Amino acid sequence: MRRFFVEDLDPAQARIEIKGDEARHMLQVLRMGKGHSLILAGPGGIRLKGRIDSVEGGIVTVAIEEQLTPVSPPPVEIVLCQSLLKAPSMDLVVQKASELGLSLLIPFASERTVVKLTGDKVERKLSHWKGIAKASLKQSDRNEPLEIETLAELSALVGRDWGENSLKLILWEGERGQGIKALIRGKPPNKRVVALVGPEGGFSKREVNQAMAGGFEPVSLGPRILRAETAALTLITLIQYEWGDLS
Ligand code: SAH
Repeated sequence: MRRFFVEDLDPAQARIEIKGDEARHMLQVLRMGKGHSLILAGPGGIRLKGRIDSVEGGIVTVAIEEQLTPVSPPPVEIVLCQSLLKAPSMDLVVQKASELGLSLLIPFASERTVVKLTGDKVERKLSHWKGIAKASLKQSDRNEPLEIETLAELSALVGRDWGENSLKLILWEGERGQGIKALIRGKPPNKRVVALVGPEGGFSKREVNQAMAGGFEPVSLGPRILRAETAALTLITLIQYEWGDLS
């Protein structure tokens, strides 16, 4: 059944109005109309099953029939700090990371970032990525849309207080000592994993040192050099498999 995310969904209401883009999408793209069943998803895992009761002036009114069991929050919060990549790679990361249950994505600019985003281009990109995340939410039945923050600097990410019980990692193909398996396999889960992944050209040694000075552990995904997007998605998958709900 089709799912739609409603930001201010109130489970106490018997009828819910859907307007704007979401309503247009329902009516014009999906050709939905009176009598169609659907699920409304809201923050905190709320799920309401209902049926379209009326369509008037582009406003879809849904009559709620049943409150479904809320979806549980992910057992481990994963934060991906991804150095900006070329558009198709970044889009891929947003879509797949959302499906895999990433909680927060923060794009950042690093020394070897090829793509430069400035001014209103940042805002445009951000809303483009949020659109991808929102579409993925419907498809994958996530609890809430993947949160995406605006473009950051590495220094801000390294200096940020990530809270207690956070495992902070920098994915570095030059790391020889510490592999991902030894780091997470059979270990009690951390509440949060924060991972820095580099751009196409990788991190500079200075950036790796900067992250390490801020308490980020360098970690390797093995002897092969992966594309940044492969590295990011592999890491999320491994964390979900070991500590999360990919089972
Ligand atoms: N510097 C390299 C490739 C960078 S790969 C070069 O140009 O040859 C892009 C990013 O993916 C890296 O910055 C790193 O964060 C991640 N990555 C790729 N392969 C990895 C591996 N084997 N272990 C850990 N991280 C890896």
